[in-house]
Amino acid sequence: MLPACRAARNSKSKRFWFFDLAIRKPRIDETSAAPANTIAARLARAGLISDWDFVLHLPLRYEDETRITPIAELMAGNESQVEAEVLSCDVVFRGKRQLRVTVRDESGQLMLRFLNFYSSQIKQMAVGRRFRIFGLVRGGLASDEMIHPRVRPCDAADPLSKALTPVYPSPEGVPQSWLRKRIGRALRDVDIDDVLPGAMRMRHQLDGLKDSIERLHRPPPDADALALQQRTDPAWRRLMFDELLAQQLALRAAREARADRRAHALANGDAVKGTISAKLRAQLPFSLTSAQSRVWSEIEGDLARAQPMHRLLQGDVGSGKTVIAALAAARAIENGLQAALMAPTEILAEQHFRKVAEWLAPIGVKIEWLTGRLTPPAKRAAQESVSSGQAQLIVGTHALIQEAVSFTRLGLAIVDEQHRFGVAQRLALRGGADGYAPHLLMLSATPIPRTLAMSYLADLDVSVIDELPPGRRPVVTKLISARRREEVMQRIRADVAAGRQSYWVCPLIESSEVIEVAAATETFERITHMLPDLRIGLLHGQLPPATKTEVMQRFERRELDVLVATTVIEVGVDVPNATLMVVEHAERFGLAQLHQLRGRVGRGGDQSFCILLFDEPLSEPARERLKVIYETNDGFEIARRDLTMRGPGEFLGARQSGMPLLRFADLQRDAQLVEHARAAATELMADNPAVAKQHVRRWYAASHEFLTA
Ligand code: ADP
Ligand code: MG
Repeated sequence: MLPACRAARNSKSKRFWFFDLAIRKPRIDETSAAPANTIAARLARAGLISDWDFVLHLPLRYEDETRITPIAELMAGNESQVEAEVLSCDVVFRGKRQLRVTVRDESGQLMLRFLNFYSSQIKQMAVGRRFRIFGLVRGGLASDEMIHPRVRPCDAADPLSKALTPVYPSPEGVPQSWLRKRIGRALRDVDIDDVLPGAMRMRHQLDGLKDSIERLHRPPPDADALALQQRTDPAWRRLMFDELLAQQLALRAAREARADRRAHALANGDAVKGTISAKLRAQLPFSLTSAQSRVWSEIEGDLARAQPMHRLLQGDVGSGKTVIAALAAARAIENGLQAALMAPTEILAEQHFRKVAEWLAPIGVKIEWLTGRLTPPAKRAAQESVSSGQAQLIVGTHALIQEAVSFTRLGLAIVDEQHRFGVAQRLALRGGADGYAPHLLMLSATPIPRTLAMSYLADLDVSVIDELPPGRRPVVTKLISARRREEVMQRIRADVAAGRQSYWVCPLIESSEVIEVAAATETFERITHMLPDLRIGLLHGQLPPATKTEVMQRFERRELDVLVATTVIEVGVDVPNATLMVVEHAERFGLAQLHQLRGRVGRGGDQSFCILLFDEPLSEPARERLKVIYETNDGFEIARRDLTMRGPGEFLGARQSGMPLLRFADLQRDAQLVEHARAAATELMADNPAVAKQHVRRWYAASHEFLTA
């Protein structure tokens, strides 16, 4: 059985299953033993498992096969259906083989072109045969044409389709026709009764559920295809409302479930006698900023309660979140509990380890370090130290800590720099062996705008560090064409002569880590060649872990002047003497990434620079991204612009977050509907919990199957 289910069973709360719904989407390996490449498996991976999943799989757009357009009335740019007979069918060569079919009806002629075709198609398009042909009309030289239209043999008596034909988003390798059939079956088999009380539908002006769903899957011929496609049709409003309602219900249930759970109340010990947190504060080389002090007292307040904390600590890059995390860990430890500090990458985890060890080891805290590169015996020893309760703080990557460690008394889990709230929540669900839930602290440099936080993160409290440590000067950003790379090298030379260090970052190449590494290696060689008297290091994901550590340490110890790296250094790395960040192919990076990278400099007192090298021509979105980064240093403003440019799903990293995300509604566009849904959620939870439960089950149908497993 899955850990989440175990926790759910053990919990006294009947509402607990809700919590699981909110945070877990099953992976294919949990729900079915089907081989990975069957159609069913592909659909399951896209979350399409139960009949309700298919009912709620709504079309992207529609094709109108309810009417026949005479060829003479076709308009370029429209999708249309014609009925015509074949006049000629020839294979011609225009650089490549193509099939050209001329068809005609009473009004005119049309050319069909197929660039890929089978010989069976040539046979099918026999002169004189009649076809229904559907496709996008393009203005050709002699006559209009369609490229790769859909063709179906017919005779004039064949009835026309009675509804617009839906086009569904389809996972790769799943044909439309298959999806249409499967959805048709689901629509027939499922009971789409409206569970929302009539009064509620009236109050929020909602169309009936069944009508709305049928209208979206099979719009009548007179429906406005554009309104359907742009989702302004009232049927969409009902579906979006239901989606928002399900999300609100799931998140609130999660919050309630958490309120039912018990956590250790972590008291502030006797500061005079010298508790660990007091000692830590006393020996820091700086004093906390007022923003840090404020968020620390918010966190202290949460930790002192007997319910698990669920707090997101937001602060721009360099605002000093790590020390707050260390203080929280110290508070757990001085109360006799364990703390876990997790980071998304090994490099970052290791850096945390060294930093907190530097702070906490001298005051006697026993810290364990768990990484993929430990030898099996060393790993076992670390794990044992945690499970025996000897280790007080464990630092490592999410994956390792989550998979390989059992805590005796985990009091606090800290997750750094990641939107993977799901990860932390899973760990929290499992909790310690003592039956108490740990407190949760999540750190993020990518601020989540209020509208998003309200909806997605209804189960999180948020603290914000809105001030940088004193003496920081904002990083100066420059946009420079890649053609001027040589000048940038001279700049590095001058900086090094002045005793400072530089980063040179090469872009992420989505499709291939090999190419990415090759590019970084090439840059490394070029810079080494250009600046032979400098000490230059290379850091990328494919180096052996020990080498990575060594390179990073040499850079920190100032034994390297320039660090050429892939985006492995994106988050968290902290070397205050580095004052120049060069980003190659900056146009390929996302906004959050660029801001994170820029945050690697400007960490000491010296003026820092970020040089964004770009290759022309720039696409419009890339130009816009670079403009934003150039114009502002404010992470919150950048996040806001990022959100408008990309939408919430992408922004939050939908697939990873573990949160119930929105498919249909849009928090900004549908802000009013969000208010309706929030009000309805409050009503339902108070007056009609059974309906609330039924509603959530429908929307997260696939997710609940594993609960009963
Ligand atoms: P981030 O919020 O990006 O994780 P860090 O925690 O890495 O930031 O802090 C950035 C740098 O600022 C570190 O070198 C840290 O030691 C230092 N720092 C943190 N708080 C203060 C402070 N109050 N005064 C001076 N320096 C600080
Ligand atoms: Mg950090």
